[in-house]
Amino acid sequence: MSTRELLLTAPLAGPLLALTDVPDPVFSEGLMGPGIAIDPLEGQLFAPCAGEVIQIARSAHAITLRHDDGYEVFMHVGLDTVQLKGQGFQLDVHEGDRVSAGQLLLRFDLDTVAQAARSLISMMTVTNAEGLSMKMLTTRQARVGEPLLILQGQTRLATDPDSSLSEPHAEGSAMVAHSGGLHARPAALLREAVQPFSATTHILHNHLRADAASLVSLLKLGVKEQQRVMIECRGQQAVQALAAAIQALEHPAARVRAAASLALVPASLSTPPKHGEGVIQGICASPGLAMGPLWKPEALTLPAERHSRQGAAAEQAELDKALQATGVLIQQRIDEAQRRGQDAEAAIFTAHLALLDDPELLQDSQQYLNDGLTAAHAWHAALERQCQILAGLDNLLLRERISDLRDVQRQVLRILLNVQLTFDPPRGALVAADDLSPSELTNLLDAQPAGLCLAGGGATSHVSILARAAGLPCVVALGESLMHLEVNVPLVLDASAGRLETAPDSARLTAVELELRTQAKQRERLRQAAQDAAITRDGQTIEVAANVSHLAEARRAQAEGADGIGLLRTELLFMDRTQAPTQQEQRSTYQAMLEAFPDRPVIIRTLDIGGDKPVDYLSLTPEPNPALGLRGIRLGWTHPQLLDDQLKALLQVQPVQRCRVLLPMISEVGELLQVRQRIRDLAAELNVPPALEVGVMIEVPSAALLAEQLAAHADFFSIGTNDLTQYTLAMDRCHSDLAAHIDALHPSVLRLIAQACAGARRHGKWVGVCGDLASDSLATPVLIGLGISELSVGAARIGEIKARVRQLEAAQCRQASAALLDLPNAQAVRARCEALWPVL
Ligand code: PEP
Ligand code: MG
Repeated sequence: MSTRELLLTAPLAGPLLALTDVPDPVFSEGLMGPGIAIDPLEGQLFAPCAGEVIQIARSAHAITLRHDDGYEVFMHVGLDTVQLKGQGFQLDVHEGDRVSAGQLLLRFDLDTVAQAARSLISMMTVTNAEGLSMKMLTTRQARVGEPLLILQGQTRLATDPDSSLSEPHAEGSAMVAHSGGLHARPAALLREAVQPFSATTHILHNHLRADAASLVSLLKLGVKEQQRVMIECRGQQAVQALAAAIQALEHPAARVRAAASLALVPASLSTPPKHGEGVIQGICASPGLAMGPLWKPEALTLPAERHSRQGAAAEQAELDKALQATGVLIQQRIDEAQRRGQDAEAAIFTAHLALLDDPELLQDSQQYLNDGLTAAHAWHAALERQCQILAGLDNLLLRERISDLRDVQRQVLRILLNVQLTFDPPRGALVAADDLSPSELTNLLDAQPAGLCLAGGGATSHVSILARAAGLPCVVALGESLMHLEVNVPLVLDASAGRLETAPDSARLTAVELELRTQAKQRERLRQAAQDAAITRDGQTIEVAANVSHLAEARRAQAEGADGIGLLRTELLFMDRTQAPTQQEQRSTYQAMLEAFPDRPVIIRTLDIGGDKPVDYLSLTPEPNPALGLRGIRLGWTHPQLLDDQLKALLQVQPVQRCRVLLPMISEVGELLQVRQRIRDLAAELNVPPALEVGVMIEVPSAALLAEQLAAHADFFSIGTNDLTQYTLAMDRCHSDLAAHIDALHPSVLRLIAQACAGARRHGKWVGVCGDLASDSLATPVLIGLGISELSVGAARIGEIKARVRQLEAAQCRQASAALLDLPNAQAVRARCEALWPVL
């Protein structure tokens, strides 16, 4: 270690900039260490001190010198210059050379670099110092060779690779996905990612071994893009460090989000299985981590005898009897689901009931009976035929309805064949099935399985919706190999990452068990603390309400400590049915919501359904661009009765003052005034007071831009950051290839949020956020800073967000948030937020 002073002379000529002004968070947030930036006027880089050249980037744009006192001085010419692959750069030294202060290190062609790189701004930092103080000797223009700054601190020593061999360790590998390989920026991100954990991390490549704490040793590995490296972690948190390292190396865009969520979503990250072997990859339908013995339901087999001995009429009578008995069972399930307040589940079973009467299915089965098949074979064949037709359609949602057909197929067959249900797995099992029907899943839930793995299925299928609502980790589309796995063997389901680990060793099982226990304890701690209000350190109360879709979710949110309902998405009430819910049905559902939250406000959004969500009875014409079509409040133009019924139901709940109506997709004030007038008219018709508060969703950019006008007539705003981001960035929120780029912390979205808050403030109205950004704890200080006073989040996040609010000081959030609007992109915003308000 050294604590001696280091004098650095100017390595380049040009105006000086603080590192915080460099438009690259890796430098501006200090990940590369303290230092200075220069906007070069000449294409020559000189040594700022005497020392040894210990590293030169493959593409010659960066050089590191080690001073005799151990300080490692890193110089990087331009931004994103790694992409130039050496073009325009000419080296005057080699690795291992000793150089004196002021010696020429590198020449670069200013024009070539300026045209091809993002910027010419060049940085000089000290990468291995701790507690460093820095004194500038000049503040304006750097002149080559003139004293520039004095540094004083301690150099960080690289760890001895063998000193911790007896500690817990974890090993894995990762493919470096960063464009240009493991150059300065990814190396800094890797170092940052593993730093919080109590573990040492080494990267191994081509017989070289680098300590992840040392940027220079990482750079010296010379790892190229798409090359695989080995990772070794030692220490108490070796598993977490390994997961963070893999994440940092393999997911360049996900960097900040991964770091932010590491503490609370360890499900996918505590996993170090080697890629390929011992892992079946599927699609996450409901996130979470689970482990348990694999269990498969008994398969239903048809009798070998296909042809009837007793004739078509007798077979028809048997089939009718079985259909009737199935109808009775399904009706019981509907009643039961309604009693439990599970409207979504009840709606699914209602659709099943309708299938039993479906004329096409009945006609088909009759035809097969006439051809001489038994009732069981005829019913099976008729349903198979429909499944084949749906499977051939180019519509994912319709294809997923196959599982409903199969469900009804199996239910009737069980009665025909007199086969008892075998959905009785041991508690805590991982259930594997080809595909599961919603009713089978409902049966299954009673047995309290740990998780669900399906060979088929899709993430938007009913089973997935139900699994998510029940908080059951579930992965779909795992493929045929799932059904060949041995039963009763303990496996790990990392549903968040969409994978099933089929060969976990005992160390892995122990790690998962510990992880699950930690998660459960943490959830419980947060849940208890969440029963109290969320108040910032300087006394501002932030309402943390819940986003819900049905009554059971509302009850769960209440138990989790929600301060009310911030968004009831009423869509689920209208889907998977043969007709819209009646006014009376809606009224009792909304009333039940109010009763689930005594004394708290309940915000109910009017129907936000679009051309992409099939609601058969509405006969919506398919639209070429559903996101920009007849959705949200616009549906009220074409289906006024739907909106009227919903408003009437809302006007009649008691006490109506606790019920607030929220209007989706408003884009100008005329739409709001129209709905307000309609509420007055309907109230007069019903002879009730028009006492409903009316809020506007700010999710279309025009609404944010016209916020001041809207605020004059609205009671409150709720910002829908999901759509606001989609429309501002012109990026489809469901597009998997854009998922890494569509980020609501984009400065353009923040500007619109700030504008909405300013507009509301002018009329004394409050603003909440109900989009997913409200559930992102990195964003909490920003939203508070911009003027938000309510956050509506998923039930599972209430404790976490309340805890986050309590760490913050609202005045400081306000003061620091304004500057975020000037940052160039979402990544920079996230980096700045992490530096200002780290998620603990
Ligand atoms: C939003 O757009 O942010 C929002 C809350 O609405 P939804 O996600 O239901 O479109
Ligand atoms: Mg929306």
